[in-house]
Amino acid sequence: MTPPPPSLTQAPSPAARRVGELATELAAITTRPWTLMEVCGGQTHAIVRWGLDQLLPPGVELIHGPGCPVCVTPAATIDAALELGRRPEVILCSYGDMLRVPGSDPGDDLLGVRAAGGDVRLLTSPLQALELAASHPERQVVFLAVGFETTAPATALLARQALALGLANLSLLVAHVRVVPAMATILADPGNRVQGFLAAGHVGTVMGLSELQALVARHRLPVVMTGFEPADVMAGLLACVRQLESGRAEVVNAYGRVVRPEGNAAAQRQMEAVFEVVDQPWRGLGVLAGGGLALRGDYRRLDARERFGVDRPLAQGPAEPGGDPSPCIAGAILRGQATPPDCPAFGTTCTPLHPLGAPMVSSEGACAAYHRYRPAALRPAPSEPAAPSSVSTSPASIGP
Ligand code: SF4
Repeated sequence: MTPPPPSLTQAPSPAARRVGELATELAAITTRPWTLMEVCGGQTHAIVRWGLDQLLPPGVELIHGPGCPVCVTPAATIDAALELGRRPEVILCSYGDMLRVPGSDPGDDLLGVRAAGGDVRLLTSPLQALELAASHPERQVVFLAVGFETTAPATALLARQALALGLANLSLLVAHVRVVPAMATILADPGNRVQGFLAAGHVGTVMGLSELQALVARHRLPVVMTGFEPADVMAGLLACVRQLESGRAEVVNAYGRVVRPEGNAAAQRQMEAVFEVVDQPWRGLGVLAGGGLALRGDYRRLDARERFGVDRPLAQGPAEPGGDPSPCIAGAILRGQATPPDCPAFGTTCTPLHPLGAPMVSSEGACAAYHRYRPAALRPAPSEPAAPSSVSTSPASIGP
């Protein structure tokens, strides 16, 4: 006999009850269709994992945004890291996800470089690069620095300490990106459907609300600073639709337990001392005005591109517009114009074990989220039966 669904056998947790209440309130205030985008990949994972999109009233659509820094790191930067990782004098280090992101050759990643003898290391904190450089004075330590404004302050701290300690064998391959220019780019796209944003709460902890207020003043749409728990996401959706239904366009902070309006002034000072805002290529989105950070002033001495002569133009590798030799449609996914099941390679030739694009690699990537939490969306591989669905649409499936 088929067991009854969990919602009939388990008492809903307080968190599930809260999500259910918010979903009920959302349904009660919604009178017409709205299209919203959650900016951050962490929010995408929460939505897909807990089936939050399946609790929305008819006509309210969520599309996934580009907030996965690993996914948007240009192939040219990965190619430079691969080249550096192959040099015998270099210790190339970065965060774990970066080791599996392919460069412009879909079969080439830093794990492969390591398997072939390159000294590629995984760090959990940028400051570990200081220890590596100090303990290996005969080697060149290169830190591949990626992430939004959330991780940029820690990279800035690393740069300041490297100069203060006079570490001549430490350099940075910087690929930090800024999230608000990406939101502006999405809004400027002629095919844009986004009517309201759930902004990335962790970026808000550093940057506060002022950049978003400028975006709202320019584009006249609601933006809600939103967290990552299921109830946070539902509260963000409710605050966004409430504005849309009443014709308002404001920045609302629905993540006030973490985000202060002014952000983290100390972290902002670190970033401003070390980085300047530059136009930056994003994988899948092209070059974004003000979309990235580069070392400024004295800190340019730490620039690995200049030190090793690996400064490359934007390569047209997989998932970059205009030169896509693979089936990967990561660019369309990052722009919110497609979902992972739309990709012909999803779950067949592209899997977490054998990723063709960064969104299948990253812990914040939309393809990885769908592959893990939406087995019903998987196409059967030629020799495999279709995987059964385990997605519950019940609020009772939301964890505590
Ligand atoms: S499923 Fe793989 S190939 Fe398709 S868009 Fe995602 S990362 Fe690219």
